[in-house]
Amino acid sequence: MSVIIDGKKLAKEIRENLKIKCEELKERGIEPKLAVILVGNDKPSQIYVKNKSKACEEIGIKFEEYLLDENITQKELINLIEKLNKDNTIHGILLQSPIPEQLDINEAFRKILPEKDVDGFNPVNVGKLVLNQDTFVSCTPYGIMKMFEAYNIDLTGKNVTIIGRSNIVGKPLIQCCLNKNATVTICHSKTKELKEHTKKADILIVAIGKSKFITEDMVKKDAIVIDVGINRDENGKLTGDVDFENVEKKASFITPVPGGVGPMTIAMLMNNVLKATKNLEIND
Ligand code: NAD
Repeated sequence: MSVIIDGKKLAKEIRENLKIKCEELKERGIEPKLAVILVGNDKPSQIYVKNKSKACEEIGIKFEEYLLDENITQKELINLIEKLNKDNTIHGILLQSPIPEQLDINEAFRKILPEKDVDGFNPVNVGKLVLNQDTFVSCTPYGIMKMFEAYNIDLTGKNVTIIGRSNIVGKPLIQCCLNKNATVTICHSKTKELKEHTKKADILIVAIGKSKFITEDMVKKDAIVIDVGINRDENGKLTGDVDFENVEKKASFITPVPGGVGPMTIAMLMNNVLKATKNLEIND
């Protein structure tokens, strides 16, 4: 039996603290504001944006949504980003991905001012993370690091295996774990003998997007297992990338889905918006 890492509870505590910080800022006449750009009609994106809006409302962060038609041109998207960059009442800018194929998301992320890039996707902020400098860390990896901190899990010298090399989860996680002195292995769809890598992991972090892909035989006894995946199983039930029921018996710590990494991601976004607000205040 393992300790189940309660991301829901931890995220709630973080949001409560942020609410107090937000009130303090408001008492000083500063109103934190997040601008979110949503392009097209992607249903999951609409749900993610709605959840972010709810979290902002709970904490007291002003939320502005920019809904753009799916046929928008790159120029129109960049013009909006530049307008938001110049608007001093806006502290954080988030471009919800995915965006339609005709648009260049890399250019769009590059155009968001690094100081307002609360998702940590601007190459300047990615570079700062690599150099272990203060920056906006993308929210899912940041949330996972906060979980380790809250449960007193020290990464020093640990073998961490990450599965999935996306720009938003796997790649920034490499740096986050390295910055905490872990020995990091990153696996992906072209990795051979995946099990050899998962079996040696003291900490296994999985971000693939395949329901119950990690089975009990792939996990070392007493490993710490972090499940980033969000999937639906054959019955439409929300599941992670880990076969929780069986892996839970072998792991020392494990995150559930739902109620694990997901709520932490949103809490860290809120944290980044307040960080952006404070940074801009200092620069003014
Ligand atoms: P992605 O969908 O962009 O890419 C999937 C990654 O998995 C790729 O790097 C690929 O190489 C790897 N992969 C695929 N099949 C594999 C296999 N058989 N063996 C080894 N590696 C394999 O990744 P993403 O955007 O990081 O999303 C991954 C999952 O995490 C999805 O389910 C997504 O919904 C979820 N997610 C959750 C949160 C959260 O807050 N909880 C945040 C982001 C993503």
